[in-house]
Amino acid sequence: MNLARFPRVRLGHMPTPLEPMENLSRHLGGPKLWIKRDDCTGLSSGGNKTRKLEYLMAEALAQGADTVITQGATQSNHARQTAAAAAKLGLACHILLEDRTGYTDPAYTQSANVLMDKLHGATVSRRPGGADMQAEMETLAEELRNSGKRPYVIPGGGSNPVGALGYVGAALELVNQASEIGLRIDHVVHATGSAGTQAGLVTGLVALNSGIPVLGIGVRAPREKQEANVLALAQRTADHLGLPKDTIRAEHVRANCDYVGQGYGIPTQGMVDAVKLLAEKEGILLDPVYSGKGMAGLIDLIGQGHFKPEENVVFIHTGGAVGLFGYPSAFDLPAEAA
Ligand SMILES: *Cc1c(COP(=O)(O)O)cnc(C)c1O
Repeated sequence: MNLARFPRVRLGHMPTPLEPMENLSRHLGGPKLWIKRDDCTGLSSGGNKTRKLEYLMAEALAQGADTVITQGATQSNHARQTAAAAAKLGLACHILLEDRTGYTDPAYTQSANVLMDKLHGATVSRRPGGADMQAEMETLAEELRNSGKRPYVIPGGGSNPVGALGYVGAALELVNQASEIGLRIDHVVHATGSAGTQAGLVTGLVALNSGIPVLGIGVRAPREKQEANVLALAQRTADHLGLPKDTIRAEHVRANCDYVGQGYGIPTQGMVDAVKLLAEKEGILLDPVYSGKGMAGLIDLIGQGHFKPEENVVFIHTGGAVGLFGYPSAFDLPAEAA
């Protein structure tokens, strides 16, 4: 596997730190919890989309694009990081935001990620929940081409075999870091949505023959659908890398989608508790849509005895804390002192 032969533009601060969470591990009574700080990739407050965009934007530039188009939910972290990457590279950026929650709080509709999309100079337009967002992007691309522009369309979440290369790279980075500090990683856990992060991690960890299993905690789709999406994308990513055909098999892909709650982007009590716990025990901010639900899943599985006390579990913090400012009423915060 030779990742270096794929074009890449530098957008993030890598390697991201791999840190122990001693307070949280003690509080939960084991296993030994670690956190890979992909919330610290730097670009416009960071997050997992930056690694994908290093490969996607390189392809856009190689194709001579002058404009990028992408889509996501209203509080999309992917849209925000794409807008920032486009700004840095001097490309125009069009963002289509799908209203998946129906929330009307101006904090949700205008602040947090939406505020930052606009600060980075992106053109933002809205679509109703359930719209065919890929088709909406193709229509916009056609309009832009007809007006003489050269648009490059990035799928939601940056999840295709090019974007997933970013997480193949993250798998290599993680395994190197662990070996430098003599850490045996028993499990990797993270929030999974559009599947590119898990597909890249699985492909990288399997290609290295690391034996490290990855568990994705779902934030939207039911388990069977999520696992099928991740498997299909991991196989396409392995193919893109030139790996042998049966490298990625169904047994390599595990998702748990029991922590979605009522739906994508809708807070759960477990998410609220997990966000507060990490903030109070570790000084780390999770996010309401992805990493908060991912951590809620991890904490619940620990309670169910899913991991052995002596095992090392690495949680990949995929970012998104900016989204907290879109959900000010989700957290019942302590009263202020007199
Ligand atoms: C997009 C995102 C994820 C999910 O990653 P996918 O590659 O879409 O599965 C997880 N956490 C955060 C904060 C995200 O923005």
